[in-house]
Amino acid sequence: MKRLKNYIGGAWVEASTDKYIPVHNPATCDLIAECPDSTRADVDKAVQAAKEAFDEWRSTPVLSRAQYMYRFKNLLEDRFEELSKMVVEENGKTRDEARGEVRRGIESVDFATSVPALMRGYRMEDVSSGIDETAERQPMGVFAAITPFNFPAMVPLWFLPTAITTGNTFVLKPSPQTPISMDILFDILDELGLPEGVVNLVQGGTESSIAVMEHPDVVGVSFVGSTPVAKIVYETCAKHGKRVQAQGGAKNYIAVMPDADMTASVANIMGSSFGCAGQRCLAGSVVVAVGDAYEPLRAELLKRASSLRVGSGLDETTQMGTVISAQAKQRIEGMISAGESEGAQVLLDGRGATVAGLEQGAFVGPTILDGVTPEMSVARDEIFGPVLSIIHVPDFETAVNTINASRYGNAASLFTSSGKHARDFKYRVRAGNIGINVGVAAATASFPFGGQKESFFGDLHGQGPDSIEFYTDKKILIERWG
Ligand code: NAD
Repeated sequence: MKRLKNYIGGAWVEASTDKYIPVHNPATCDLIAECPDSTRADVDKAVQAAKEAFDEWRSTPVLSRAQYMYRFKNLLEDRFEELSKMVVEENGKTRDEARGEVRRGIESVDFATSVPALMRGYRMEDVSSGIDETAERQPMGVFAAITPFNFPAMVPLWFLPTAITTGNTFVLKPSPQTPISMDILFDILDELGLPEGVVNLVQGGTESSIAVMEHPDVVGVSFVGSTPVAKIVYETCAKHGKRVQAQGGAKNYIAVMPDADMTASVANIMGSSFGCAGQRCLAGSVVVAVGDAYEPLRAELLKRASSLRVGSGLDETTQMGTVISAQAKQRIEGMISAGESEGAQVLLDGRGATVAGLEQGAFVGPTILDGVTPEMSVARDEIFGPVLSIIHVPDFETAVNTINASRYGNAASLFTSSGKHARDFKYRVRAGNIGINVGVAAATASFPFGGQKESFFGDLHGQGPDSIEFYTDKKILIERWG
């Protein structure tokens, strides 16, 4: 059992607290680490180290900064299995899900190697007689990220590589529920030999988050987490004069037309709704069965979900792991019961699931609720567990209106063989990530990760060209050399 430290100014240091947050393996309930609940003083130390490192780092040639990313990628490849295994142990997902997450994280490091090509400015001669004008992109100072439990390795990598390759310095505050993979990541960064203070890790909970958001020397914050916290982060950062991108929670709808290939659609929906035990911000949570799609879709979903093998993520044959904690299990089971009492029919019941030999594990079995209506809590609120609700609607128009009535707008998918419906869906549905015959519409590293309505607060999204905009400011130079 490891007592975690912070990584500040190029060294591992004890947090200035005697409060430690227990970290459990959700499959066994074993205590696997203690995470310091770092204080405002710890955050200040990290920000000061990052601030001191900034001037020298920003004047390090961008090609040299990018070279670190090539080496970073190689070190991550060397420790790929170790990092993936830790994601399984602290988060509960399956080995392949964890490998997929780390692979996606490495793709963000790949993206950062292209910063020299992407952060160029632009220039025009003779904006007036003999006067030339240039817009240069400059790094801004200390950026920070506050990240969630569900992708403990990938989400920090959405931000850190691009933030530092554009010439900023960085402070990461990960989730205290899954802090150990960042202990490994910063061990890798330590081996990389970046100048002291370029990257810093502060482990902790709400107090350290607030200290990050209020710190006068932090110029911007990238946040990923639930909607209520995303709102707090957006407001607090704005109040303290910072740039902010706050990616929030989700309630993702999947519409299935009668002309869809039902077997292929259901295979996709299974991965979307029950992959990572439903703890993805892109997880399909509500299936909208259109017209005659309902009967075959319902039958196929029930058949496939009933046969999912639930167990420890470390067992390579497991198809669905645990949810994050005993509290999460209790909350999710409570939401299933609320749906039932509001009139939903529990077609497949994952409440009270147990796995032999892991009786203390936070397992919730795959759950399907039928006869759900848009006003029920299971259709409106984020469950963040392996629970799929089925709403039956008469036509495409009603499906689009049902989806657009949601207060969330992270992702939505349509399964169909009609190009017209596909185009209409993409055009009209108010969600930031749209899947057509794809259940998890996850933006790859060179595209921004979408999000609308209460799923995103800000204007520049994480990843892709938006991240270059977010991590740089444009300085205008107007020159006359008459
Ligand atoms: P969370 O909001 O509870 O925590 C996220 C981070 O915020 C953690 O680091 C936490 O320590 C910190 N935090 C918690 N309460 C805070 C407060 N009051 N003030 C300041 N900081 C605080 O989220 P979670 O439970 O770790 O993650 C799951 C949520 O994240 C889900 O809602 C999911 O949809 C969302 N998510 C969204 C995306 C996206 O891209 N939109 C991606 C992944 C996860």
